[in-house]
Amino acid sequence: MAQGQFKDGIVAGRLSQTQYSDNFSDLHPPLDRHEAVVEADRCYFCYDAPCMQACPTSIDIPMFIRQIATDNPLGSAKTIFDQNILGGMCARVCPTETLCEEVCVREVAEGKPVQIGRLQRYATDVAMEAGKQFYERAAPSGKSVAVVGAGPAGLACAHRLAVAGHTVTIYEAKPKAGGLNEYGIAAYKTVDDFAQAEVDYVTAVGGIAIEYGKALGRDIALAELAATHDAVFLGMGLAGVNALRAEGEDAPGVDNAVEFIAGLRQADDLASIPVGRRVVVIGGGMTAIDAAIQSKLLGAEEVTICYRRGKEHMNASEYEQDLAASNGVVIRHWQQPKRVVAVNGTTVGIELEYTRLDQGKLVGTGEVVTLAADQVFKAIGQTFDAAPLNGSGNAIALEQGRIKVDEEGRTSMKSVWAGGDCIVGGEDLTVSAVAQGRDAADSINRALLDK
Ligand SMILES: Cc1cc2nc3c(=O)[nH]c(=O)nc-3n(C[C@H](O)[C@H](O)[C@H](O)COP(=O)(O)OP(=O)(O)OC[C@H]3O[C@@H](n4cnc5c(N)ncnc54)[C@H](O)[C@@H]3O)c2cc1C
Ligand code: SF4
Repeated sequence: MAQGQFKDGIVAGRLSQTQYSDNFSDLHPPLDRHEAVVEADRCYFCYDAPCMQACPTSIDIPMFIRQIATDNPLGSAKTIFDQNILGGMCARVCPTETLCEEVCVREVAEGKPVQIGRLQRYATDVAMEAGKQFYERAAPSGKSVAVVGAGPAGLACAHRLAVAGHTVTIYEAKPKAGGLNEYGIAAYKTVDDFAQAEVDYVTAVGGIAIEYGKALGRDIALAELAATHDAVFLGMGLAGVNALRAEGEDAPGVDNAVEFIAGLRQADDLASIPVGRRVVVIGGGMTAIDAAIQSKLLGAEEVTICYRRGKEHMNASEYEQDLAASNGVVIRHWQQPKRVVAVNGTTVGIELEYTRLDQGKLVGTGEVVTLAADQVFKAIGQTFDAAPLNGSGNAIALEQGRIKVDEEGRTSMKSVWAGGDCIVGGEDLTVSAVAQGRDAADSINRALLDK
């Protein structure tokens, strides 16, 4: 046990180096060749493949599994990449338990689905480790497309367009590409700098330039991009964070969970990341779960997630909730934050009010409980920041606070498409962002060919 483990306050270096590396190792170790072939043999190759219908990118799952079963991992990887060029990351981060594996007939019949995610990882890892590129670019079209944001949506869009022969420039505000793959996904889901390896793999097709540190609305205007390119794709994700709406939420010790995770993902040494002894995370989604588990793995002694509704209402899947519980995280339901308790400018607790549903509406009961906490994370959802669009002087219609698009991903502005978390109906999943970026690219391609 390292010395700092039971110190009060927000402290770095709570654990030994060995504990950090054990705690942040691969969540699901990769299958080896033999294990993959044996697992692939469990698939019934169903003619109606419910797994495939549940996949937002519609990967031909029975086909890629059959290719693994016949010891053809490269063919399998191509089947995956044809639909999802970020199939390697999706294999690691997709909540398969609520997508393909939930509906796998072997799950329905026996409660033990074919491990589709791990098989997908096996095939894509073989191809990426071999540096195998499956796509050749079409003859240059002479058209150029600007992509804003190098997250999953932007990268998937850029790859499809580059293959079609267009020249793509990605404008990325941050110093690295990958979006939340690089800055958000839990560290134990994507070890060994996989996000950057995938960016390199995707861009190796050619025809894609990334301009780092270039933010729309700050360094470039949308009108300028629209004037200098034949089309624009917006894949900007969600830059804003919802407020807690609790008294004292600006107290030191109250932090944004997404920023905490980004800091952790970028740290060269996990011992440099300070974490509270008693941590409370407010929220019910994947971000809340990830912040809570990673706090625990960094050495926090007590970690509690407080969610204002019931277990069944949480956005995090049951699997994610169980993962949190198995890491020692306590999840409390029907509690909403009321007041951050600070003494001499230091957070020492959080007061929560019990809630209930009254004719379908969430109301506070008036009963409160105070939990001791030296660190409180806000993980109550992110919001789209429309300011970079307004700066352009051009109108992009919004709906429910996000960009409104038609069924092809076209925005209200001519020659401008959008996809991923920033659009209405964005599902806040990596795989959905990839599907939307890919489909918008197909739409852009059709429009450019007609020009
Ligand atoms: C903490 C956390 C954990 C998650 N875990 C999972 C998970 O396990 N599984 C899963 O499926 N999903 C997960 N998600 C959701 C998933 O990460 C997102 O749905 C996905 O990344 C969305 O992709 P995107 O391309 O739309 O946006 P992003 O990944 O957010 O990428 C947007 C990019 O645009 C850039 N950008 C933003 N504004 C500008 C601007 N003005 N100019 C230029 N560039 C700009 C950003 O820097 C970023 O690179 C998680 C999300 C969070 C926050
Ligand atoms: S549902 Fe399951 S068994 Fe059927 S094709 Fe898909 S992975 Fe194979």
